[in-house]
Amino acid sequence: MAARRELSRPFGFVPTMGALHAGHASLLAAARADCPSVVASIFVNPRQFGPSEDFQTYPRDEAADLAFLERAGVDVAFVPPVEEIYPPGSSTYVDVGRLGEVLEGAQRRGHFRGVATVVSILFALVAPDRAYFGQKDGQQVVVVRRLVDDLGFPIEIVVGPTVREPDGLALSSRNRYLAPPQRTAASIVHACLVAVHHAYRGGERSGDGLRRLMLSVLGREPLVTPDYVSVADAATLEELEVVDRPALVSLAVHTGSTRLIDCLPLHDPVLAGLRGA
Ligand code: AMP
Repeated sequence: MAARRELSRPFGFVPTMGALHAGHASLLAAARADCPSVVASIFVNPRQFGPSEDFQTYPRDEAADLAFLERAGVDVAFVPPVEEIYPPGSSTYVDVGRLGEVLEGAQRRGHFRGVATVVSILFALVAPDRAYFGQKDGQQVVVVRRLVDDLGFPIEIVVGPTVREPDGLALSSRNRYLAPPQRTAASIVHACLVAVHHAYRGGERSGDGLRRLMLSVLGREPLVTPDYVSVADAATLEELEVVDRPALVSLAVHTGSTRLIDCLPLHDPVLAGLRGA
């Protein structure tokens, strides 16, 4: 990415898959506020989608996304074709081990291997000083921090708070797939995190107690089926018996054919952007 040589430093980088919304805008604004120059990428990464996932149908609107990035004051929009990221013969993957196999990784085999690979390639090509990621994808943040440490990228990782709809649903490009009754039901995911936040503030420290609480809140909404609930160490993602260190509370649910994820870093609830908590 030759254009980066013209940029004043430090420069910030916001990687995205496009279909841009206010969650992306908040990361772009944070980068803009911190850095004299900002690069954003749009790349729907084939390697992080499973064979039965929505790679082909993932929402794409390049013209609208480029206009969005311009309005956000981005200096360079990097929109590489697949062959620029994975040239013919490309066969190297970055694998973060167990961190990529639990939670989302258990349901989406190979997903984090694809994420870690594309993030590493983008970091090598763009070589930013800071890179911005959303707390919304909490496990992704853990994986990216790990690979930056393990591979020695001289890049500061900045995490932005989750941006939510008025009823608490985290903004996501996939929310557009929700039919109206599912869209209404989906707010239970946020309600579940708010319940955990209150219980934790009230002194609950049992991992099992908090996981049971999440399942009981989700049980109030028949249109939502839990996939997993987790209260894990925020760095290793090991499930906790007792919440005596920084923890990541996370969950995934299905409603219809849509899968929704959300999370709450218990040590920093501001990053979860909870509403009315
Ligand atoms: P994506 O385009 O879905 O790959 O997301 C690009 C970046 O935006 C990732 O770092 C996401 O975590 C972040 N992001 C997505 N949704 C939100 C949201 N609702 N609030 C904050 N950041 C978000």
